[in-house]
Amino acid sequence: MTKKRPYIRDKRSPKSKNEAVSRVMRANKSKNTKPEMLLRKALWKHGLRGYRLHQRHLPGRPDIAFTTKRVAIFVNGCFWHRCPHCQLSLPKTNTTFWEEKFKRNVARDQDKQAALTKHNWKVAVIWECQIKEDLQEQVERIRQLLGDIARYELEREDFLNVAEEGETYR
Ligand SMILES: [Zn+2]
Repeated sequence: MTKKRPYIRDKRSPKSKNEAVSRVMRANKSKNTKPEMLLRKALWKHGLRGYRLHQRHLPGRPDIAFTTKRVAIFVNGCFWHRCPHCQLSLPKTNTTFWEEKFKRNVARDQDKQAALTKHNWKVAVIWECQIKEDLQEQVERIRQLLGDIARYELEREDFLNVAEEGETYR
């Protein structure tokens, strides 16, 4: 058996009496989560490569970033990021604390996405449950996003060519 790193509570976190919550908290980490690893493997397998991971210099530090095509992927855990599909109920104890914490998480997620779209990035949020349910569909979603960008760039290139031609007639 592999030795697991113990979960270190931050001082403000209340101790949970609920075993399910404790388990989720122990498993909490932001990078290289199991759903993220599954998605990365699937992307690799389907030839969608050349992405960068957790790039510090990018706004919001997306989990996966196709930098040349400006496509950013966030892989979100359903519990921490409050998945709209799962609509998990709040922990029964310390409910107010959790409510506030989750509110901050959701607001932070929105800020990250806004910062990226402001810089002309396409952003996809992929939920843990979607990866569990249909990994293939998520890969297709990303493939389409990458394709759309390619088309967009092509159109822009055509536009620029036209503009250049226009200039020669002046
Ligand atoms: Zn979910």
